[in-house]
Amino acid sequence: MSEGQFYHLIDGKLETSEDSFPVINPATEEPFATCPKATKAQLDQAVAAARRAQKQWRKTSFAERREVIERFAAKLQESADILAPILTREQGKPLAEARVEIMRSGVSAREICSVEIKPELMKEDAKGRIELHYRPLGVIGGITPWNVPIVLAAPKLASALYAGNAFILKPSPYTPLTTLKMGELIKDIFPPGLVSIIAGGDEFGQWMTEHPGIDKISFTGSVPTGKKVVESGARSMKRITLELGGNDAAIVLSDADPKEIAPRVFAAAFALSGQVCMAIKRLYVHESIYEDMVGEMTKIAEKAKFGEGFEEGVQYGPIQNKMQYDKVLGILEDTKNLPDVRITTGGHALNRKGYFVAPTIVADIKEGTRLVDEEPFGPVLPILSFKDVDDVVERANNSRFGLGGSVWTKDIDKGSEIAGQLEAGVVWVNHHIGLSREFPFGGAKESGMGRQGHAIGVKSDMEPQVVVLPAK
Ligand code: NAD
Repeated sequence: MSEGQFYHLIDGKLETSEDSFPVINPATEEPFATCPKATKAQLDQAVAAARRAQKQWRKTSFAERREVIERFAAKLQESADILAPILTREQGKPLAEARVEIMRSGVSAREICSVEIKPELMKEDAKGRIELHYRPLGVIGGITPWNVPIVLAAPKLASALYAGNAFILKPSPYTPLTTLKMGELIKDIFPPGLVSIIAGGDEFGQWMTEHPGIDKISFTGSVPTGKKVVESGARSMKRITLELGGNDAAIVLSDADPKEIAPRVFAAAFALSGQVCMAIKRLYVHESIYEDMVGEMTKIAEKAKFGEGFEEGVQYGPIQNKMQYDKVLGILEDTKNLPDVRITTGGHALNRKGYFVAPTIVADIKEGTRLVDEEPFGPVLPILSFKDVDDVVERANNSRFGLGGSVWTKDIDKGSEIAGQLEAGVVWVNHHIGLSREFPFGGAKESGMGRQGHAIGVKSDMEPQVVVLPAK
């Protein structure tokens, strides 16, 4: 089926490009729409318009910016019926979840604007005063991945604009259409050029990172691409925020009740079929309750309904693209060849069209294997056993990733103490996943650089400036 036409939003106008590429529905493996593929000249046009528009926008107050971003958030949420089906078709996620993503994006944008950014008085004495101000950076480029394109784009846009910048957004070529449609719907909310939304290939992202007219890149994606962004951004000393991959460990202590926690642990591991940066990707369970936990997780996996996003009652969709699907199947093949490893359920592709992998639980597996050490980004969860808490903390921390983590226990104080030992940007007790832009979100180690959300995130879209004044 055809989804109609999609356009870039450049300098307040809907534009197309001579070149285009097909967008594939991962549940059918069929192309269902065509996306325009922007040129370098179109990026130059957007940057010139952004620099022009930002000169006026930077003069507006935080209250005025908040009002415009509020209209953006409202328009996004009002348009859920238009956007959610496109998101389901290009991403594969269940329609209900696509709706939640759109609604949540509006909430995120509002959360960003709820912070107060004020000048700080650093010192005042007979000689004068020293003030710390935060000034807009200029033009911010946002680059997003294919798993939750709108929930990641909306707060980037809100943060850039709230801080007084212009914003140019590039979605992943795997899932560009919902983002372009969003651009069409919000076109008249912003002064022309202040927000441009442009689709292109990976090279378009690289052009953004190299462009001298872009002052900062706000990037979400994989660790290898994040490293490339840093390398090419260095040439123009760009400010950079990176939200990268994760391999989050959840630690289940001996006092936890497997039956009670398993549904929540499962939801946090298999959300979006495991394609969430901060999903549980390694589950460590105390040996005294290990078999019970494996049993509970296996039962839930066996009942989970995987299918096309528009099917009634479907809970989980396909892997979003062929490359990722092949990677997950490759990791599964390697896992099957390991001695003594138990695959208690799943372990194979689903026998249907589309990039579907059966929900898979792998027990008796250890570190030093691809499934445990890499970020599989699919519906496959390794469950590891531990005896000693100090030892499991060390094992959890023995990773180049450091995005999130969790501890599951009836003893909240103990949970909090262990949380403090985990090397991760966010750690939950008796919970995992849940993105609020009211707290600064980001990763330790190779999971990122900087934070988004909260005043910390908004300030990272600004340049601190010290003003030293003599006494009057
Ligand atoms: P990716 O790194 O392949 O691509 C992300 C974006 O970067 C895409 O828009 C792509 O076109 C663009 N890109 C590719 N090459 C580029 C280059 N040289 N310069 C600039 N941009 C370039 O990531 P993906 O496969 O789309 O997404 C999956 C990854 O994203 C996973 O690792 C996941 O954990 C991570 N992720 C992280 C978060 C977070 O908040 N930490 C959230 C969602 C996803």
